Amino acid sequence: MLLFTPGPTPVPERIRQVMAAPTIHHRTPEFTKIFKETRKLLIEFLKMDEAVVFASTGTGAMEASVVNFCKKKALIVNSGKFGERFVEIAKSYSKEYVELKYDWDEAVKLDDIKKAMRENPDIDSFFIQICESSGGLRQPFEEASQLVKALNDEVVVVADGITAIGVEPIDTTHLDVLIGGSQKALMLPPGLSFLGLSPYAQRVLGEGAGYYFNVAKELKSQKEGTTAFTAATTLIIGLREMLNILIKEVGLDELYDRTDRIASATRLAVEAIGLTLFPQKPANAMTAIYDEDAEAIRKILKSKFGVNVAGGQEHLKGKLIRINHMGLIEPYEASFVVDSIEMALDELGRRSYEGLANRIFNETYFRILEE
Ligand SMILES: *Cc1c(COP(=O)(O)O)cnc(C)c1O
Repeated sequence: MLLFTPGPTPVPERIRQVMAAPTIHHRTPEFTKIFKETRKLLIEFLKMDEAVVFASTGTGAMEASVVNFCKKKALIVNSGKFGERFVEIAKSYSKEYVELKYDWDEAVKLDDIKKAMRENPDIDSFFIQICESSGGLRQPFEEASQLVKALNDEVVVVADGITAIGVEPIDTTHLDVLIGGSQKALMLPPGLSFLGLSPYAQRVLGEGAGYYFNVAKELKSQKEGTTAFTAATTLIIGLREMLNILIKEVGLDELYDRTDRIASATRLAVEAIGLTLFPQKPANAMTAIYDEDAEAIRKILKSKFGVNVAGGQEHLKGKLIRINHMGLIEPYEASFVVDSIEMALDELGRRSYEGLANRIFNETYFRILEE
């Protein structure tokens, strides 16, 4: 079965191998050495000044960012399930917030940010997804974060980069907190999350807040090469190996270029066979297709062609097909995904199979027509 869901993504053999070693104790010089190396790589990978790691899924890092960086009022962009999650976290801690709510295919409007910040001078933190995974939407986070800082440079800008880190180069110029997780573009099992921190984020942190997710307490321990609580040793060993592969062996430019080619090739291929992209501006992390037959297509893909892609959630249940592009994906696997979609359309009597999606994919990915 080809796992083509936008998280979790397949874990490469080499990562599974290093994680198969016997568990080591976390309060030892051996682990401290590994953890220090991992932190160095992670900070380089995120292009942030500092980083903290948590044993939790990505949502834990989202919670940490709300708890530690919203002291008065949050401004939250909600273009889908993950934006909504920031709202729910803020609510659960009785934080004050202003929500900018959009349809799941629609990006934040800069004028709405302007208006909200004028009307609420007490906003001290801004939360946005880089890629909103529920609809595969790319938010204009560069313009949004630049605008927020121009209006009030004391606002802490938090970006959920869980489906953007390792997908595309992220402009961290106006970012204070960058949220990441293990089971998306980092191709690790679920269970590890992290925050990249700017110098400003560290300054305003003070004593931190919360208990398990106290960023100040964690940062202090992690700078010394240990963790406040038991470290997720196995996952951290996997993370070190993965960052070595991505940074030193593949190279980040190559990783971003490959992902961009897989994503463009997939978009062009599915559009060529008459399918409709869902978001107004698609992210490179995944291709989301809007289709009334989405469920039937997904069923055929799974049962007949061994391809597992994700569907839609909530009001888009049964209406979306979401194809992952995160991680190190072989083009011959990705081209088979669009090929099998074309075969499924034939089976549903919508379109005769002619191998068009596969051809467009390969021409685009391997840049055949340009040569
Ligand atoms: C997957 C994801 C998360 C975190 O989800 P977890 O299930 O807690 O790991 C957060 N934000 C985005 C944009 C995601 O895609």
